[in-house]
Amino acid sequence: MTDKKMQPLQAVKGMNDILPPESARWEWLEAKMRGVLQRYGYQNVRTPIVEPTALFVRGIGEVTDIVEKEMYAFEDRADKHGQAEHLALRPEMTAGVVRAVTEHSFLRDAPRRLYYFGPMFRREKPQKGRYRQFHQMGVEALGFAGPDVDAEVILMGSRLLRELGLRAGEHVRLELNCLGDLAERRAHREALIAHLEQHKALLDEDSQRRLYTNPLRVLDTKNPALQDMANAAPKLLDFLGEASLAHFNGVRAILDSVGIAYTINPRLVRGLDYYNLTVFEWITDKLGSQGTVCGGGRYDGLIEQLGGKPAPAVGFGMGIERMLLLLEEVGAIPAAPAPDVYAIVPDPADMPRLLPALEALRESGVAVQMHAGGGSFKSQFKKADASGARFALVFGADELARGEVAVKPLRDGGDQVNRPLSAVPSWAAELLPA
Ligand code: ATP
Ligand code: MG
Repeated sequence: MTDKKMQPLQAVKGMNDILPPESARWEWLEAKMRGVLQRYGYQNVRTPIVEPTALFVRGIGEVTDIVEKEMYAFEDRADKHGQAEHLALRPEMTAGVVRAVTEHSFLRDAPRRLYYFGPMFRREKPQKGRYRQFHQMGVEALGFAGPDVDAEVILMGSRLLRELGLRAGEHVRLELNCLGDLAERRAHREALIAHLEQHKALLDEDSQRRLYTNPLRVLDTKNPALQDMANAAPKLLDFLGEASLAHFNGVRAILDSVGIAYTINPRLVRGLDYYNLTVFEWITDKLGSQGTVCGGGRYDGLIEQLGGKPAPAVGFGMGIERMLLLLEEVGAIPAAPAPDVYAIVPDPADMPRLLPALEALRESGVAVQMHAGGGSFKSQFKKADASGARFALVFGADELARGEVAVKPLRDGGDQVNRPLSAVPSWAAELLPA
Protein backbone atom coordinates (compact mmCIF):
# COMPACT_ATOMS: atom_id res chain seq x y z
CA MET A 1 0.00 0.00 0.00
CA THR A 2 1.21 3.45 -0.82
CA ASP A 3 -0.26 6.47 0.92
CA LYS A 4 -0.39 8.41 -2.33
CA LYS A 5 -3.87 9.91 -2.61
CA MET A 6 -5.90 8.64 -5.54
CA GLN A 7 -7.17 11.18 -8.06
CA PRO A 8 -10.97 11.24 -8.02
CA LEU A 9 -12.50 10.03 -11.27
CA GLN A 10 -14.68 12.24 -13.40
CA ALA A 11 -17.79 11.67 -15.45
CA VAL A 12 -17.34 10.82 -19.12
CA LYS A 13 -17.01 13.94 -21.26
CA GLY A 14 -20.38 15.15 -22.50
CA MET A 15 -22.28 13.10 -19.91
CA ASN A 16 -23.78 15.09 -17.08
CA ASP A 17 -24.73 14.58 -13.47
CA ILE A 18 -28.02 16.17 -12.55
CA LEU A 19 -28.05 17.16 -8.91
CA PRO A 20 -30.53 19.14 -6.82
CA PRO A 21 -31.80 21.79 -7.25
CA GLU A 22 -31.40 21.24 -11.02
CA SER A 23 -33.00 17.80 -10.74
CA ALA A 24 -36.18 19.43 -9.41
CA ARG A 25 -36.51 21.20 -12.77
CA TRP A 26 -36.32 17.86 -14.52
CA GLU A 27 -39.01 16.42 -12.29
CA TRP A 28 -41.20 19.46 -12.85
CA LEU A 29 -40.77 19.23 -16.64
CA GLU A 30 -41.39 15.49 -16.72
CA ALA A 31 -44.57 15.86 -14.64
CA LYS A 32 -45.85 18.61 -16.97
CA MET A 33 -45.13 16.43 -19.98
CA ARG A 34 -46.82 13.34 -18.48
CA GLY A 35 -49.91 15.40 -17.72
CA VAL A 36 -50.29 16.44 -21.36
CA LEU A 37 -49.44 12.99 -22.75
CA GLN A 38 -52.09 11.36 -20.58
CA ARG A 39 -54.72 13.84 -21.72
CA TYR A 40 -54.12 12.68 -25.31
CA GLY A 41 -54.30 8.99 -24.38
CA TYR A 42 -50.61 8.16 -24.77
CA GLN A 43 -49.19 5.28 -22.72
CA ASN A 44 -45.69 4.80 -21.39
CA VAL A 45 -43.22 2.39 -23.01
CA ARG A 46 -39.77 1.49 -21.67
CA THR A 47 -37.18 -0.34 -23.73
CA PRO A 48 -33.54 -1.27 -23.07
CA ILE A 49 -30.78 1.29 -23.42
CA VAL A 50 -28.63 -1.31 -25.20
CA GLU A 51 -29.87 -2.85 -28.45
CA PRO A 52 -28.26 -4.87 -31.23
CA THR A 53 -26.18 -2.47 -33.35
CA ALA A 54 -27.91 -3.80 -36.47
CA LEU A 55 -31.21 -2.36 -35.27
CA PHE A 56 -29.87 1.19 -35.58
CA VAL A 57 -27.89 0.57 -38.75
CA ARG A 58 -30.99 -0.82 -40.42
CA GLY A 59 -33.42 1.60 -38.84
CA ILE A 60 -31.66 4.95 -38.89
CA GLY A 61 -29.70 4.33 -42.09
CA GLU A 62 -26.09 3.54 -42.87
CA VAL A 63 -25.26 6.93 -44.37
CA THR A 64 -26.35 9.16 -41.51
CA ASP A 65 -24.31 11.12 -38.99
CA ILE A 66 -25.61 8.99 -36.17
CA VAL A 67 -24.58 5.66 -37.63
CA GLU A 68 -21.43 6.84 -39.39
CA LYS A 69 -19.88 8.81 -36.57
CA GLU A 70 -21.92 9.13 -33.44
CA MET A 71 -22.90 5.71 -32.24
CA TYR A 72 -21.46 4.10 -29.11
CA ALA A 73 -21.18 0.61 -30.56
CA PHE A 74 -19.11 -2.20 -29.13
CA GLU A 75 -18.56 -5.90 -29.28
CA ASP A 76 -19.75 -7.73 -26.19
CA ARG A 77 -17.64 -10.46 -24.59
CA ALA A 78 -17.65 -13.74 -26.44
CA ASP A 79 -19.93 -16.46 -25.12
CA LYS A 80 -18.72 -20.04 -24.67
CA HIS A 81 -18.99 -20.68 -28.43
CA GLY A 82 -16.73 -17.71 -29.13
CA GLN A 83 -19.65 -15.64 -30.47
CA ALA A 84 -19.72 -11.97 -29.50
CA GLU A 85 -22.78 -9.79 -29.97
CA HIS A 86 -22.53 -6.35 -31.59
CA LEU A 87 -24.33 -3.95 -29.29
CA ALA A 88 -24.92 -0.21 -29.18
CA LEU A 89 -26.16 2.38 -26.71
CA ARG A 90 -29.35 3.73 -28.24
CA PRO A 91 -28.83 7.03 -30.08
CA GLU A 92 -32.62 7.44 -30.34
CA MET A 93 -35.59 5.36 -29.32
CA THR A 94 -37.92 4.98 -32.28
CA ALA A 95 -36.03 1.93 -33.59
CA GLY A 96 -36.18 0.32 -30.13
CA VAL A 97 -39.90 0.96 -29.81
CA VAL A 98 -40.50 -0.52 -33.25
CA ARG A 99 -38.44 -3.58 -32.32
CA ALA A 100 -40.42 -3.97 -29.08
CA VAL A 101 -43.89 -3.67 -30.61
CA THR A 102 -42.88 -6.11 -33.34
CA GLU A 103 -41.35 -8.59 -30.90
CA HIS A 104 -44.52 -8.56 -28.77
CA SER A 105 -47.00 -8.38 -31.68
CA PHE A 106 -48.25 -5.30 -29.90
CA LEU A 107 -50.07 -3.82 -32.90
CA ARG A 108 -52.01 -7.01 -33.63
CA ASP A 109 -55.26 -5.91 -32.01
CA ALA A 110 -55.17 -2.17 -32.22
CA PRO A 111 -53.03 0.81 -33.13
CA ARG A 112 -51.11 2.23 -30.18
CA ARG A 113 -50.18 5.60 -28.81
CA LEU A 114 -46.95 5.39 -26.83
CA TYR A 115 -44.56 7.80 -25.12
CA TYR A 116 -41.17 7.45 -23.48
CA PHE A 117 -38.58 9.31 -21.46
CA GLY A 118 -34.96 8.34 -21.34
CA PRO A 119 -31.28 8.85 -22.02
CA MET A 120 -29.86 8.64 -25.57
CA PHE A 121 -26.21 8.49 -26.55
CA ARG A 122 -24.37 10.13 -29.44
CA ARG A 123 -20.65 10.79 -29.70
CA GLU A 124 -20.97 14.43 -30.72
CA LYS A 125 -18.82 17.41 -29.85
CA PRO A 126 -20.10 18.48 -26.42
CA GLN A 127 -21.33 22.07 -26.17
CA LYS A 128 -24.27 23.92 -24.72
CA GLY A 129 -27.40 22.03 -25.75
CA ARG A 130 -25.41 19.16 -27.27
CA TYR A 131 -24.20 16.30 -25.12
CA ARG A 132 -23.07 12.71 -25.47
CA GLN A 133 -25.66 11.45 -23.06
CA PHE A 134 -28.82 13.49 -23.46
CA HIS A 135 -32.45 12.87 -22.74
CA GLN A 136 -35.56 12.77 -24.83
CA MET A 137 -39.25 12.65 -24.31
CA GLY A 138 -40.79 11.09 -27.37
CA VAL A 139 -44.09 9.83 -28.71
CA GLU A 140 -44.89 7.18 -31.29
CA ALA A 141 -48.40 6.74 -32.73
CA LEU A 142 -48.19 3.30 -34.32
CA GLY A 143 -50.66 1.78 -36.78
CA PHE A 144 -52.28 5.08 -37.82
CA ALA A 145 -52.09 6.09 -41.49
CA GLY A 146 -54.05 9.32 -41.76
CA PRO A 147 -53.04 12.96 -41.54
CA ASP A 148 -55.34 13.24 -38.51
CA VAL A 149 -52.81 11.60 -36.24
CA ASP A 150 -49.92 13.63 -37.71
CA ALA A 151 -51.92 16.70 -36.74
CA GLU A 152 -52.63 15.18 -33.33
CA VAL A 153 -48.98 14.74 -32.40
CA ILE A 154 -48.21 18.25 -33.63
CA LEU A 155 -51.15 19.63 -31.68
CA MET A 156 -50.04 17.75 -28.58
CA GLY A 157 -46.51 19.14 -28.92
CA SER A 158 -47.93 22.61 -29.38
CA ARG A 159 -50.06 22.31 -26.23
CA LEU A 160 -47.08 21.04 -24.31
CA LEU A 161 -44.94 24.00 -25.32
CA ARG A 162 -47.76 26.40 -24.52
CA GLU A 163 -48.48 24.89 -21.11
CA LEU A 164 -44.78 25.15 -20.32
CA GLY A 165 -45.02 28.88 -20.92
CA LEU A 166 -43.49 29.06 -24.40
CA ARG A 167 -45.23 31.26 -26.92
CA ALA A 168 -45.46 30.34 -30.60
CA GLY A 169 -43.81 32.97 -32.75
CA GLU A 170 -41.94 34.55 -29.85
CA HIS A 171 -40.06 31.59 -28.32
CA VAL A 172 -40.61 28.73 -30.73
CA ARG A 173 -41.77 28.26 -34.28
CA LEU A 174 -43.03 25.24 -36.14
CA GLU A 175 -41.54 24.18 -39.48
CA LEU A 176 -43.25 21.64 -41.66
CA ASN A 177 -42.37 19.70 -44.79
CA CYS A 178 -43.53 16.68 -46.75
CA LEU A 179 -41.01 14.08 -47.90
CA GLY A 180 -43.46 12.18 -50.10
CA ASP A 181 -43.04 8.51 -50.87
CA LEU A 182 -40.10 6.46 -52.11
CA ALA A 183 -40.81 6.92 -55.83
CA GLU A 184 -41.18 10.67 -55.40
CA ARG A 185 -37.96 10.88 -53.44
CA ARG A 186 -36.19 8.87 -56.18
CA ALA A 187 -37.34 11.24 -58.90
CA HIS A 188 -36.28 14.21 -56.81
CA ARG A 189 -32.98 12.51 -56.04
CA GLU A 190 -32.03 12.43 -59.73
CA ALA A 191 -32.64 16.14 -60.06
CA LEU A 192 -30.90 16.86 -56.79
CA ILE A 193 -27.78 14.91 -57.76
CA ALA A 194 -27.63 16.81 -61.04
CA HIS A 195 -27.83 20.08 -59.12
CA LEU A 196 -25.18 19.02 -56.62
CA GLU A 197 -22.86 17.85 -59.40
CA GLN A 198 -22.98 21.35 -60.83
CA HIS A 199 -21.70 22.68 -57.52
CA LYS A 200 -19.35 19.84 -56.75
CA ALA A 201 -16.35 22.08 -56.13
CA LEU A 202 -18.25 23.86 -53.40
CA LEU A 203 -19.23 20.75 -51.45
CA ASP A 204 -17.50 19.98 -48.16
CA GLU A 205 -16.08 16.54 -47.44
CA ASP A 206 -19.28 15.19 -45.87
CA SER A 207 -21.41 16.44 -48.73
CA GLN A 208 -19.01 15.09 -51.40
CA ARG A 209 -19.26 11.68 -49.84
CA ARG A 210 -23.05 11.85 -49.67
CA LEU A 211 -23.60 13.18 -53.15
CA TYR A 212 -24.49 9.73 -54.44
CA THR A 213 -25.23 7.79 -51.25
CA ASN A 214 -27.59 10.20 -49.52
CA PRO A 215 -27.97 13.49 -51.43
CA LEU A 216 -31.05 14.53 -49.46
CA ARG A 217 -28.86 14.71 -46.40
CA VAL A 218 -26.69 17.33 -48.10
CA LEU A 219 -29.65 19.71 -47.82
CA ASP A 220 -29.53 19.16 -44.07
CA THR A 221 -26.03 20.69 -43.94
CA LYS A 222 -25.26 23.30 -41.33
CA ASN A 223 -22.22 24.54 -43.30
CA PRO A 224 -22.88 28.27 -43.95
CA ALA A 225 -20.94 28.13 -47.23
CA LEU A 226 -23.48 25.67 -48.65
CA GLN A 227 -26.68 27.50 -47.75
CA ASP A 228 -27.20 29.32 -51.06
CA MET A 229 -26.52 26.17 -53.05
CA ALA A 230 -28.93 24.21 -50.81
CA ASN A 231 -31.63 26.86 -51.05
CA ALA A 232 -31.43 26.77 -54.85
CA ALA A 233 -31.67 22.96 -55.00
CA PRO A 234 -34.71 21.28 -56.57
CA LYS A 235 -37.46 20.99 -54.00
CA LEU A 236 -38.97 17.65 -53.05
CA LEU A 237 -42.31 19.42 -52.67
CA ASP A 238 -42.35 19.96 -56.45
CA PHE A 239 -42.08 16.22 -57.02
CA LEU A 240 -45.01 15.16 -54.88
CA GLY A 241 -47.88 13.22 -56.47
CA GLU A 242 -51.57 13.47 -55.71
CA ALA A 243 -51.66 11.15 -52.70
CA SER A 244 -48.73 12.78 -50.92
CA LEU A 245 -50.11 16.24 -51.58
CA ALA A 246 -53.51 15.16 -50.26
CA HIS A 247 -51.85 13.90 -47.09
CA PHE A 248 -49.84 17.06 -46.66
CA ASN A 249 -52.85 19.27 -47.30
CA GLY A 250 -54.85 17.14 -44.86
CA VAL A 251 -52.35 17.85 -42.09
CA ARG A 252 -52.26 21.52 -42.98
CA ALA A 253 -56.05 21.84 -43.03
CA ILE A 254 -56.32 20.47 -39.49
CA LEU A 255 -53.52 22.67 -38.18
CA ASP A 256 -55.11 25.69 -39.86
CA SER A 257 -58.49 24.85 -38.36
CA VAL A 258 -57.10 24.88 -34.82
CA GLY A 259 -54.94 27.93 -35.43
CA ILE A 260 -51.49 26.34 -35.20
CA ALA A 261 -49.05 28.52 -37.09
CA TYR A 262 -46.25 26.94 -39.14
CA THR A 263 -43.95 27.70 -41.99
CA ILE A 264 -43.23 25.26 -44.78
CA ASN A 265 -39.52 24.61 -45.04
CA PRO A 266 -38.79 22.65 -48.25
CA ARG A 267 -35.26 21.91 -46.97
CA LEU A 268 -36.40 20.25 -43.77
CA VAL A 269 -35.37 16.60 -44.20
CA ARG A 270 -34.37 15.50 -40.65
CA GLY A 271 -31.25 13.54 -39.77
CA LEU A 272 -32.61 10.01 -40.02
CA ASP A 273 -33.47 8.00 -43.10
CA TYR A 274 -36.74 6.49 -42.01
CA TYR A 275 -39.04 9.46 -42.53
CA ASN A 276 -41.66 9.85 -45.26
CA LEU A 277 -44.54 12.28 -45.85
CA THR A 278 -44.90 14.65 -42.89
CA VAL A 279 -41.79 15.93 -41.10
CA PHE A 280 -41.67 18.82 -38.64
CA GLU A 281 -39.46 20.60 -36.16
CA TRP A 282 -39.97 23.07 -33.37
CA ILE A 283 -37.15 25.55 -33.48
CA THR A 284 -36.02 28.34 -31.21
CA ASP A 285 -33.69 31.21 -32.03
CA LYS A 286 -32.54 31.40 -28.42
CA LEU A 287 -30.13 28.44 -28.36
CA GLY A 288 -27.83 29.15 -31.30
CA SER A 289 -27.20 26.20 -33.59
CA GLN A 290 -28.76 23.88 -30.98
CA GLY A 291 -32.11 25.42 -31.85
CA THR A 292 -34.19 22.33 -32.59
CA VAL A 293 -36.04 21.46 -29.42
CA CYS A 294 -38.36 18.91 -30.99
CA GLY A 295 -38.33 16.99 -34.25
CA GLY A 296 -40.44 14.27 -35.73
CA GLY A 297 -42.40 12.91 -38.61
CA ARG A 298 -44.02 9.96 -40.27
CA TYR A 299 -42.14 6.70 -40.79
CA ASP A 300 -44.53 4.37 -42.60
CA GLY A 301 -41.83 2.01 -43.89
CA LEU A 302 -39.77 1.49 -40.75
CA ILE A 303 -41.74 -1.27 -39.08
CA GLU A 304 -41.61 -3.44 -42.20
CA GLN A 305 -37.98 -2.51 -42.78
CA LEU A 306 -37.17 -3.87 -39.33
CA GLY A 307 -38.97 -7.14 -40.04
CA GLY A 308 -42.39 -6.37 -38.64
CA LYS A 309 -45.81 -6.58 -40.23
CA PRO A 310 -46.15 -3.37 -42.28
CA ALA A 311 -47.84 -0.59 -40.34
CA PRO A 312 -47.77 3.19 -40.69
CA ALA A 313 -46.55 5.37 -37.81
CA VAL A 314 -45.68 8.89 -36.78
CA GLY A 315 -43.81 10.34 -33.82
CA PHE A 316 -41.48 12.96 -32.43
CA GLY A 317 -38.58 13.34 -30.03
CA MET A 318 -38.08 16.32 -27.75
CA GLY A 319 -34.71 17.15 -26.20
CA ILE A 320 -35.11 17.58 -22.45
CA GLU A 321 -31.84 19.48 -21.91
CA ARG A 322 -32.63 21.93 -24.69
CA MET A 323 -36.15 22.42 -23.41
CA LEU A 324 -34.78 23.24 -19.95
CA LEU A 325 -32.20 25.64 -21.40
CA LEU A 326 -34.92 27.38 -23.37
CA LEU A 327 -37.34 27.52 -20.44
CA GLU A 328 -34.59 28.97 -18.30
CA GLU A 329 -33.77 31.51 -20.98
CA VAL A 330 -37.35 32.78 -21.06
CA GLY A 331 -37.84 32.55 -17.29
CA ALA A 332 -40.54 29.89 -17.42
CA ILE A 333 -39.22 27.57 -14.70
CA PRO A 334 -40.84 27.78 -11.26
CA ALA A 335 -38.75 27.82 -8.09
CA ALA A 336 -37.71 24.44 -6.73
CA PRO A 337 -40.23 23.11 -4.23
CA ALA A 338 -39.34 23.69 -0.58
CA PRO A 339 -40.62 21.69 2.39
CA ASP A 340 -43.71 23.04 4.13
CA VAL A 341 -42.07 22.77 7.53
CA TYR A 342 -38.64 22.26 9.04
CA ALA A 343 -38.60 20.39 12.34
CA ILE A 344 -36.14 21.77 14.89
CA VAL A 345 -35.05 19.15 17.38
CA PRO A 346 -32.86 20.73 20.08
CA ASP A 347 -32.30 17.40 21.86
CA PRO A 348 -31.96 14.35 19.59
CA ALA A 349 -32.93 12.17 22.58
CA ASP A 350 -36.49 13.54 22.24
CA MET A 351 -36.83 11.96 18.80
CA PRO A 352 -39.07 9.05 19.89
CA ARG A 353 -41.58 11.54 21.36
CA LEU A 354 -41.88 13.76 18.34
CA LEU A 355 -41.53 11.34 15.42
CA PRO A 356 -45.19 10.20 15.64
CA ALA A 357 -46.26 13.82 15.21
CA LEU A 358 -44.00 14.26 12.16
CA GLU A 359 -45.40 11.07 10.66
CA ALA A 360 -48.96 12.26 11.32
CA LEU A 361 -48.13 15.50 9.50
CA ARG A 362 -46.76 13.58 6.53
CA GLU A 363 -49.88 11.41 6.62
CA SER A 364 -51.86 14.64 6.19
CA GLY A 365 -49.78 15.62 3.16
CA VAL A 366 -47.42 18.08 4.84
CA ALA A 367 -43.82 18.01 3.52
CA VAL A 368 -41.65 17.79 6.60
CA GLN A 369 -37.88 18.12 6.65
CA MET A 370 -36.54 16.94 9.98
CA HIS A 371 -33.33 18.28 11.40
CA ALA A 372 -30.89 15.44 11.88
CA GLY A 373 -27.52 15.41 13.58
CA GLY A 374 -28.18 17.70 16.55
CA GLY A 375 -26.45 21.06 16.88
CA SER A 376 -27.29 24.34 18.56
CA PHE A 377 -30.72 25.91 18.43
CA LYS A 378 -29.31 28.77 16.42
CA SER A 379 -27.66 26.59 13.78
CA GLN A 380 -30.86 24.58 13.43
CA PHE A 381 -32.84 27.76 12.89
CA LYS A 382 -30.41 28.80 10.20
CA LYS A 383 -30.94 25.48 8.44
CA ALA A 384 -34.70 25.91 8.76
CA ASP A 385 -34.48 29.27 7.07
CA ALA A 386 -32.19 28.04 4.32
CA SER A 387 -34.49 25.11 3.57
CA GLY A 388 -37.10 27.52 2.24
CA ALA A 389 -39.76 26.05 4.55
CA ARG A 390 -42.67 28.32 5.43
CA PHE A 391 -42.78 27.16 9.06
CA ALA A 392 -40.38 25.94 11.69
CA LEU A 393 -41.72 23.41 14.18
CA VAL A 394 -39.81 23.76 17.42
CA PHE A 395 -39.79 20.69 19.64
CA GLY A 396 -38.17 22.37 22.66
CA ALA A 397 -38.04 20.78 26.12
CA ASP A 398 -40.74 23.14 27.48
CA GLU A 399 -43.11 22.51 24.58
CA LEU A 400 -42.63 18.75 24.77
CA ALA A 401 -43.24 18.78 28.54
CA ARG A 402 -46.68 20.28 27.80
CA GLY A 403 -47.32 17.82 24.94
CA GLU A 404 -47.07 20.64 22.39
CA VAL A 405 -44.98 21.98 19.53
CA ALA A 406 -44.28 25.62 18.71
CA VAL A 407 -45.22 26.57 15.12
CA LYS A 408 -43.19 29.55 13.96
CA PRO A 409 -43.88 31.22 10.58
CA LEU A 410 -40.63 31.82 8.71
CA ARG A 411 -41.78 33.66 5.61
CA ASP A 412 -44.88 35.79 5.73
CA GLY A 413 -44.67 37.06 9.32
CA GLY A 414 -47.38 36.14 11.79
CA ASP A 415 -47.18 34.97 15.38
CA GLN A 416 -45.78 31.81 16.79
CA VAL A 417 -48.49 29.48 18.11
CA ASN A 418 -48.42 26.26 20.12
CA ARG A 419 -50.25 23.19 18.89
CA PRO A 420 -51.07 19.87 20.60
CA LEU A 421 -48.99 16.88 19.48
CA SER A 422 -51.89 14.53 20.17
CA ALA A 423 -54.19 16.12 17.58
CA VAL A 424 -52.02 16.79 14.52
CA PRO A 425 -54.77 16.25 11.89
CA SER A 426 -56.82 19.06 13.44
CA TRP A 427 -54.17 21.69 12.56
CA ALA A 428 -52.08 20.07 9.78
CA ALA A 429 -53.98 21.91 7.04
CA GLU A 430 -52.79 25.31 8.26
CA LEU A 431 -49.22 24.27 7.27
CA LEU A 432 -50.13 23.44 3.67
CA PRO A 433 -49.74 26.08 0.95
CA ALA A 434 -52.92 28.07 0.32
P1 ATP B 1 -29.56 18.40 -34.30
O1 ATP B 1 -29.92 18.81 -35.67
O2 ATP B 1 -29.56 19.56 -33.32
O3 ATP B 1 -28.31 17.59 -34.21
P2 ATP B 1 -31.12 16.02 -34.49
O4 ATP B 1 -31.89 16.23 -35.73
O5 ATP B 1 -29.88 15.20 -34.54
O6 ATP B 1 -30.75 17.45 -33.80
P3 ATP B 1 -33.09 14.24 -33.40
O7 ATP B 1 -32.36 13.03 -33.74
O8 ATP B 1 -34.29 14.60 -34.18
O9 ATP B 1 -32.09 15.50 -33.35
O10 ATP B 1 -33.48 14.21 -31.84
C1 ATP B 1 -34.63 14.87 -31.33
C2 ATP B 1 -34.26 15.98 -30.36
O11 ATP B 1 -33.28 15.54 -29.42
C3 ATP B 1 -33.59 17.17 -31.02
O12 ATP B 1 -34.54 18.01 -31.54
C4 ATP B 1 -32.85 17.79 -29.87
O13 ATP B 1 -33.73 18.60 -29.09
C5 ATP B 1 -32.43 16.61 -29.05
N1 ATP B 1 -31.02 16.24 -29.30
C6 ATP B 1 -30.50 15.59 -30.36
N2 ATP B 1 -29.17 15.38 -30.23
C7 ATP B 1 -28.84 15.94 -29.02
C8 ATP B 1 -27.62 16.05 -28.28
N3 ATP B 1 -26.47 15.54 -28.72
N4 ATP B 1 -27.66 16.69 -27.07
C9 ATP B 1 -28.80 17.21 -26.59
N5 ATP B 1 -29.98 17.11 -27.23
C10 ATP B 1 -30.02 16.50 -28.43
MG1 MG C 1 -27.85 15.63 -34.64
